Amino acid sequence: MQTEFIINGVYVISAALFILGLKLLSHPSTARKGNLLSASGMFVAICVTLIDHQILSYEWIAVALLLGSVVGFITAKKVELTSMPELVSLLNGIGGLASLAVSLAMVLTQSLPVYVLIILLIAIAIGGVTFTGSIIAWSKLSGKLSSIIKSKAMVFKGQALFNSLLIVAIFAMGVFMSLEPLNMEYAAIFVALCLVLGVMLVIPIGGADMPVVISLLNSYSGLAACAAGIAMNNNLLIVAGALVGASGIILTSVMCKAMNRSLSNVLFSGFQAVTNSEMKIEGEVKAMSSEDAYYVLEAAQSVIVIPGYGMAVAQAQHAMKELQTLLEENGAEVVYGIHPVAGRMPGHMNVLLAEADVPYELLLEMDDVNPRMETYDVAIVIGANDVVNPAAREMEGSPIYGMPIINADLAKNVFIMKRGMASGFAGIDNPLFFKDNARMIFGDAKESINSIIRQFSD
Ligand code: NDP
Repeated sequence: MQTEFIINGVYVISAALFILGLKLLSHPSTARKGNLLSASGMFVAICVTLIDHQILSYEWIAVALLLGSVVGFITAKKVELTSMPELVSLLNGIGGLASLAVSLAMVLTQSLPVYVLIILLIAIAIGGVTFTGSIIAWSKLSGKLSSIIKSKAMVFKGQALFNSLLIVAIFAMGVFMSLEPLNMEYAAIFVALCLVLGVMLVIPIGGADMPVVISLLNSYSGLAACAAGIAMNNNLLIVAGALVGASGIILTSVMCKAMNRSLSNVLFSGFQAVTNSEMKIEGEVKAMSSEDAYYVLEAAQSVIVIPGYGMAVAQAQHAMKELQTLLEENGAEVVYGIHPVAGRMPGHMNVLLAEADVPYELLLEMDDVNPRMETYDVAIVIGANDVVNPAAREMEGSPIYGMPIINADLAKNVFIMKRGMASGFAGIDNPLFFKDNARMIFGDAKESINSIIRQFSD
């Protein structure tokens, strides 16, 4: 009784730390502290759970803790920021697998009331879908296993019917399992069907929609943990699962809003199945040297920098900060226009720029910079493409038509730093590059910025 009281008391503290951590994570200046608080909450929760009398083997738990910590530490140290969504996807998948394993073990080893059994079956189903769905998402994003799993949307005739039959079969097996929970064959078929459903739900989604799916799967992994928590009567698992589930779904809806898509459109439309081959873009592409860019920038009074995924690839944030300082010393006002889905995860650009010590107050949101765009002498687009693509505004029928963008093309001059004419994540052409006021500065973004910096010092 006393042990249970202590465990639940500490769980309340852990839950409070999670919630406080989430709150602090919402701003770059407090994000580190938020992360640390949430991690501490998890640490005390794990420690106090270990005093539970029902624990069977401390040895195996110690081995798992050690192994998990070492793998987690090495992976977190090694991962590139550009690969973060893939890592998040793998972690979601492992979370789903854990809920599946725990719930399945309970079903197969205990005699349980029907309502607990049903909750556990839900946890197994969501955990299974999350596991295989996340593995497919990871594979699509990383390009690993690309010979089997294509990164673009994989659609086939009768897919919707197949998926519907699969869901009916899962439901039917669930009923059989509730009648005969200890039947291993039923359990194996039920789990296998859930795993197949995870694959089937994610293969028809492709390209630019994958980060949204990862966020959604993150939410699923929380729901699976929450369901397992209810069945196991573990209060912290319920709270933590609900927090992950809710924050995942909020993030998913923020992303969909920023892309002007509904969730059902993301999940069922097969983004890359649409092409814009019939869209004609008028105008000509004009290249510019860094020397000429310097002359214009030297005379500029106001400059807006619009970063995108290419800045992350080039790791150009530190060079950009250096150029920002030179421009400011030269009397120009410099701000950054941040699109909510620039890069490959929400907040991607903010993290990079914070790393380079760019003051937070210079990072302006899309809705703040767009009304003033005409007043900027120069817009420097660093490795951004889709998030500044005016096709979203001008080309009805384009796959991104209606997506809110940063209207870089409305600035007096637009400098676009990219290596060539390749399209962005959405795989579509960009009329911005052909506009009269646009100049392409071809090359790696970091090298191009450094080259302009050298002109300032000469
Ligand atoms: P994009 O993926 O549209 O474009 C990136 C550009 O960077 C490419 O065109 C590439 O052109 C260029 N690039 C790559 N490497 C370098 C380099 N070393 N130096 C200079 N340029 C480089 O990026 P955006 O940030 O504009 O758009 C993000 C996309 O991701 C959107 O489609 C968005 O919808 C999607 N997305 C993002 C999410 C998020 O949370 N951030 C979530 C969901 C979707 P080149 O190869 O010619 O150099």
